Amino acid sequence: MTLQHDQSEDFRLQGHLLIDYLADYLKSCNSSTLPVTTPIPPDSSYNYWENILSNNSLPLQELFRDIVSKSIHLHHPGYVGHQVATSHPSGILADLIASTLNNGMAVYEMGQVSIAMEKAICAMLTNAIGWGADATGFFTSGGTLANLTALLSARQIYSKSKYWYEGHATSKYAVMVSTEAHYCIERAVKIMGLGNEGIIHIPINTDFKIDISQLENIYQSSSNKGLEIFAFVANAGSTATGSYDDIEAIAKFCKEKKIWLHVDGAHGGAVLLSAKHNHLIKGIDQADSMTLDFHKLLQTPILCTTLLYRNEENSYETFSQGAKYLYQDQSHEWYQLGKRTFECTKPMMVLKAFTLMQQLGKERLARDIEDRYDLAKEFAESIKADPDFELATNPESNIVCFKILFDQSDIKSANQYTQEIRREINASGSFYLVQTQIKDTVYLRCSLMNVATNMETLSSLLDEIRECKKKYKI
Ligand SMILES: *Cc1c(COP(=O)(O)O)cnc(C)c1O
Repeated sequence: MTLQHDQSEDFRLQGHLLIDYLADYLKSCNSSTLPVTTPIPPDSSYNYWENILSNNSLPLQELFRDIVSKSIHLHHPGYVGHQVATSHPSGILADLIASTLNNGMAVYEMGQVSIAMEKAICAMLTNAIGWGADATGFFTSGGTLANLTALLSARQIYSKSKYWYEGHATSKYAVMVSTEAHYCIERAVKIMGLGNEGIIHIPINTDFKIDISQLENIYQSSSNKGLEIFAFVANAGSTATGSYDDIEAIAKFCKEKKIWLHVDGAHGGAVLLSAKHNHLIKGIDQADSMTLDFHKLLQTPILCTTLLYRNEENSYETFSQGAKYLYQDQSHEWYQLGKRTFECTKPMMVLKAFTLMQQLGKERLARDIEDRYDLAKEFAESIKADPDFELATNPESNIVCFKILFDQSDIKSANQYTQEIRREINASGSFYLVQTQIKDTVYLRCSLMNVATNMETLSSLLDEIRECKKKYKI
């Protein structure tokens, strides 16, 4: 018996046990007995796993069970925290194939299935946007990296690749972006070496969208300071409140100024698939690029992100660099994805997106998004009607932010109470929710990711917060 054979039989046995266990686990997430999370202080968790690391006698299945039981459970209906997908079982299984095959994808020879699948999925998405045959896209490791890649492309195009060879010795480049942009945009700008001046924040209006009326003034005053604005990043939707910027108006502005429009649709770009909600990204066909995370609204295991370009040629400019040992041919070959991605070796992340798209279909995926957007609206209405809470803004997506109203307390103590109540709720095991700060106030923040979460879940959440608040006698 060869070693390979031994391994495959062991894999069969352990795999069956694991799948049975995970299937029971998924079922148990819907029962009230499993806590969403059991918070463990960081040092205790470290000590625990450090011990396990040297415990070679722990059997594989026990290790697996331990990992599951001590983790946070996103399939629990009470999970309304960070905007990470509730992974769909078909996507989970597809991920298992990706790990088994381990095709690297840096060159076509190492990824002939997944590279073709990436093109097919991206073509489907760019068609839905309304871009022409020149459009393209690929998968990359997260929205953060996709946004950085898009801005690098934009800079290359603007500078006609001059930057690649000369750096920024003689020019000051800058990006316009909402004050509500995800923090990764500022990070990207700083990584690009553009410094504080490289990020120009545009204030928002009361709906948490970029205030269009200020664009011209801010552009002019920045230009007067010698800044060359080469890109604009619009939110679809923003991270804190899930609000969509007016892409149509921003696109018009960008066209006038001849600057690259990148739409950060990591979270909300998925409405592209929904006839009911695609009005939220009206004007997207005028953008130059868009980021879309499958691992947020599209039920896909993390990481799984696409970066889409209106013009394929632009996507080859990002890294104006030849790697002769990888690519004998330096021309634009769509199937040599490593020429356009940060990653050299890249996982077959597209398998899970492709499988879900092929098995569930885009109509079903769109309907699940619509249901969660509807649920957010219903939840928001119930908050509005409730004298104990106040809504931050009408939700445009599946993110709902609200604050607890305290009878008598200054803002500082109100913020402290809110954070304390959030900790208590999360420790209780029935729910997991997060918080965000809007101006000076701490708000509770719910992302409704899970199709199993319903109004009943959310009413009990409000009740539990109310109970918790009573203890503070305020
Ligand atoms: C989640 C998110 C990001 C970051 O994406 P990752 O996949 O977590 O790297 C960027 N922008 C927005 C608007 C997001 O919602």
